[in-house]
Amino acid sequence: MLFSNLPQSLHAKDLMRKILVIEDEALVRANILEILEAGGEFNALGAENGKIGVRLAKEHLPDLILCDIMMPELDGYGVLNELKTDSATATIPFIFLTARADKTDLRQGMNLGADDYLTKPFRRSELLGVVATRLEKQVAVQQQYKTQQMRLMASVQQLEERLNYLIHYDSLTNLPNQQLLQQRLQQLLLQADQYQQQVPILSLDLDRFNRINETLGHAVGDQLLKAVANRLIQCVGDGSTIARLNGDQFVIVLSPGEENRAAAESAQLILNALSQCFVLNGHEIFITACIGISVYPDNGRDLTMLLQHADAALSHAQEQGGNHFQFYTPQINDYFSKTLALEASLHYALERSEFQVYYQPQVDFKTGLISGAEALLRWDHPEWGFVSPAEFIPLAEQSGLIVQIDQWVLESVCTQLAEWQSRSLPPLRVSVNLSGRQFHHSNLCENVVRILTKTGIDPCYLDLELTERIIVQRVEENITTLKQLKALGIQISIDDFGTGYSSLNYLKQFPFDTLKIDRCFVCNIASDSKNAAITTAMIQMAHSLNLKVIAEGVETEAELAFLKQNQCDEMQGYLFSRPLPKEEFEKLLLSGKRLKVYN
Ligand code: C2E
Ligand code: MG
Ligand code: MG
Repeated sequence: MLFSNLPQSLHAKDLMRKILVIEDEALVRANILEILEAGGEFNALGAENGKIGVRLAKEHLPDLILCDIMMPELDGYGVLNELKTDSATATIPFIFLTARADKTDLRQGMNLGADDYLTKPFRRSELLGVVATRLEKQVAVQQQYKTQQMRLMASVQQLEERLNYLIHYDSLTNLPNQQLLQQRLQQLLLQADQYQQQVPILSLDLDRFNRINETLGHAVGDQLLKAVANRLIQCVGDGSTIARLNGDQFVIVLSPGEENRAAAESAQLILNALSQCFVLNGHEIFITACIGISVYPDNGRDLTMLLQHADAALSHAQEQGGNHFQFYTPQINDYFSKTLALEASLHYALERSEFQVYYQPQVDFKTGLISGAEALLRWDHPEWGFVSPAEFIPLAEQSGLIVQIDQWVLESVCTQLAEWQSRSLPPLRVSVNLSGRQFHHSNLCENVVRILTKTGIDPCYLDLELTERIIVQRVEENITTLKQLKALGIQISIDDFGTGYSSLNYLKQFPFDTLKIDRCFVCNIASDSKNAAITTAMIQMAHSLNLKVIAEGVETEAELAFLKQNQCDEMQGYLFSRPLPKEEFEKLLLSGKRLKVYN
């Protein structure tokens, strides 16, 4: 026998079903315990009052509880209430024992969540009958719960797979899109750094593609794009990545190590292959293309810069009249010189007080009222005016200045919150964006504690926004940091969700409170079926993981209506308000402005 080597105790009581009897009358309690134990089926446990009963229930997690209603101090209703509000004991079947067959009493008990009742005095067979019936039902309930959980996980898994496909692939050509390209490129660049290799990036655009759409229709245009994708696949080796960015723009990342001469040969091969006749729907179609080439690391260290330079080279090739490829050269544009000048000024921006924090309201869909704000940094340069964060944040990250800048933003926001709270403005949660450098800084938690102590604000009003890209590097370490931050009482949001890895695994592992759907998925959501599918899947997935959802970049009434209808929790976007300087934000807050649909 399999069990014969088990300790004696496991043979008997531990394998039996546990029943807790909470009854203050000693004789009645002893009688019930005896009846239950007599058959050898149950391990019965007695409690002489409600308090002991609650403690034993939490300690032993019995399979069923029999509880008297009328007891001194904590009566049966009190016991039931305490157990139902604790998730560990909430689902244990609960049967009331009552001497009073008063219907209202019983109804009250059943309303509180009791499963059954037994009127005293009762016969042995009645007691055993009620217990057996309830335990059988419980088995069925547990089975049903298990099945529901399995179904829920399976549907979340399916949603994740579908979401990942939608987010990472172009549904027309099945080629990777910009997101996946970015991820693949990051890996390739790591490999290239290790072996000191260069990586050529080709940006390809079909010459006068609109002409096909206009003369032969969009269906033929789509077929042509698919056929182009297939030819590109045949032209380049397995180690290369081909992506379709949008319209007729493709990007090809050649395998690391290809020299400029090999890149030029590949480009020419592609141009030759595309200039061969395509036969689609009985039409013979001739096209040409142009290619701009940039090379890592000489022409840029990330996808944005490499693409920018490849595109500059592409425009140059197009100006030559088409069917042409061109390498990027610094003379093609003055991008570098502008970047250098920006970076130099950035060093002085903090000490010259050129930064300001703007606040963009976040609005609750349930009430239509402002529930929070995102702090967004603004740089007012004395010569160039407002410089966009999209332009200077990456530069600040590259130079490491971002750590001081983010620290300044955090301090300014907490000081502002303290000031608003001291003037009794409505309580408000403010989100602060953290850069990867700041997040991985060893003093982050200490700094946050110092700022919270100095300003005296309640941590629950501070929310830190992190992007997926930040947290996927050094996962274990990041989980620890996030848990420390959460332990302080701070909220954590995952920003720009969908533009990085969008993995359910990350969502499950990290202690996030809120998921922010990136603006690119919210755009035209009411008419763009792909964006609609992605956003609804994200909302469902986030809700099944108990995360709140904020949609970013809501610009139209149609987008707002769609999000509201699909149970999004909060919105942020120009439709309600642009990011505002603190004085204007304050006025908006005090005005009690609501989303229009709620007025
Ligand atoms: P983010 O964190 O995703 O911030 C949202 C961006 O969307 C902001 O751009 C905001 O102005 C913009 N936005 C909001 N609603 C709409 C809308 O309806 N339509 C459109 N077109 N845009 C909308 P912003 O202020 O230019 O900031 C860009 C990015 O710069 C931010 O993206 C964030 O990643 C970064 N950033 C801004 N402030 C800070 C900061 O203090 N620290 C760090 N590390 N990064 C920051
Ligand atoms: Mg943000
Ligand atoms: Mg965002």
